[in-house]
Amino acid sequence: AETGCLSIIVLGASGDLAKEKTFPALFHLYCQGFLPPSEVHILGYARTKISDDELRNRIAGLTDILIEPADIFSVREAVKYVSGSYDSAEGFQLLDKEIAMHEISKSSQEVSSRRLFYLALPPSVYPPVYRMIRKYCMNKYIKYFPADLSGWTRVVVEKPFGKDLDSAELLGSQIGELFDEPQIYRIDHYLGKELVQNLVINISSGRFANRFFLPLWNCDNIDNVRIVFREDFGTEGHGGYFDEYGIIRDIIQNHLLQVFCLVAMEKPVSLKPEHIRDEKVKVLQSVLPIKDEEVVLGQYEGYRDDVTVPDHSNTPTFATVILRIHNERWEGIPFILKAGKALKKGRYTCEKQGRNEFVIRLQPSEAMYMKLTMSYDQSYCFYECCFHVCRLSFMLQHVKQPGLEMSAVQSELDLSVMRLGQRYQGVMIREAYERLVLDTIRGDQQHFVRRDELKAAWKIFTPLLHRIDNEADELSAKAGYVQTHGYIWALPPHR
Ligand code: NAP
Repeated sequence: AETGCLSIIVLGASGDLAKEKTFPALFHLYCQGFLPPSEVHILGYARTKISDDELRNRIAGLTDILIEPADIFSVREAVKYVSGSYDSAEGFQLLDKEIAMHEISKSSQEVSSRRLFYLALPPSVYPPVYRMIRKYCMNKYIKYFPADLSGWTRVVVEKPFGKDLDSAELLGSQIGELFDEPQIYRIDHYLGKELVQNLVINISSGRFANRFFLPLWNCDNIDNVRIVFREDFGTEGHGGYFDEYGIIRDIIQNHLLQVFCLVAMEKPVSLKPEHIRDEKVKVLQSVLPIKDEEVVLGQYEGYRDDVTVPDHSNTPTFATVILRIHNERWEGIPFILKAGKALKKGRYTCEKQGRNEFVIRLQPSEAMYMKLTMSYDQSYCFYECCFHVCRLSFMLQHVKQPGLEMSAVQSELDLSVMRLGQRYQGVMIREAYERLVLDTIRGDQQHFVRRDELKAAWKIFTPLLHRIDNEADELSAKAGYVQTHGYIWALPPHR
């Protein structure tokens, strides 16, 4: 493993994301020993003029009982703050000086300088920040080390990665001119979830190697795949950001599409990040253009009452989009991507009775289980499932070892509910952000979105998004959206 000075710089340290996600993830990693105190240095940077202690107090909301008070004291002390603007040389020179001071103080031996810049900032300030980092804050040779010991500089960026293909490509080229792809970590926090990672492991050691999944994972055995995101609350006074993007850009084009890729992609050559990302790109490129008649849009009643939402907003808060893949494995199978805010449980599902289902639930609590229904009418299905279940009960199922390591262990698949926390007592199910931050330090890009992947994703959704933006009323009528009480939606066609 790499050793040496590790500086983690959170830009936009005064903001919500930093407070709610980035700093807590760093604190937990620190307290669990993943960020050795002898190496790590955490810096916050933003325009707000506050002291080190003021920043520490803002972000100190650690309630985790597993963290000892002494650790909390230690991690607080590891945090420093630098104030400066996002486009001024002075600020970034000061930041560089602060980082370098830490590196020198910890460089009594031959170690490398590792600099991780986490942009917890609105995308409008990304371009100047990229330039400033490139110009003033890159990792440097420390003392007289050979180049391969000089460490690295990495940049972590948050969604939104543009609003359509062109804007995403513009952002991509702005960062691409200054940093190489291996230095760029585009976070989609869904990829850090325990069961999404389980899907990755299943793809190689489970889905394709395991005899339970392998024969089933294709259009002969699967009728449809549903990837559903449901929130039972609305925008609740924070609709400004959402209204600009809408549910497709906010949830479907990124989070649900990532899950879609992992479910639908072919087996990668290996579990190496580039091989996995290659397969994701391939499956995205095989998606057929979305048909208008396979889209349903909606807006929940009361959305426009949010004071931060414009009175005449047409922004969809609900969407169902059917994706179809043109390849041998998935020909003809609808992948139903459905996402909505302010949805009441049970309001919008209508299934054929007696369907057998394999369910992977990512939130609120992660679980994986099968629903099997037996009836005389479905003797064939029943027989088929029974056959697999009988075999399964004697078989071991590969799953990903819960926690921060990406390795497979053997476990029985509990066909009612497999709750990872109960099954693997003593192993903490990590927050997605912790896992992802650790991956950036380890240089593992498997769970980050590559530029060509992002481009392929935007290619799928941009024509639809442009139609929605430009012809909102016409499209709404065509797709079945009528604003009445609650949601109106149409069942996707079954095969
Ligand atoms: P935020 O609180 O609005 O902004 C973070 C910091 O950036 C602010 O404290 C402010 O710091 C600075 N800032 C804000 N607006 C600016 C402007 N117009 N020009 C220059 N600086 C500005 O944002 P956030 O909620 O932390 O989110 C940060 C990024 O993560 C965004 O891109 C967001 O889309 C993404 N994201 C957020 C979440 C979340 O849970 N919040 C989840 C997923 C993705 P100073 O004024 O002190 O410089």
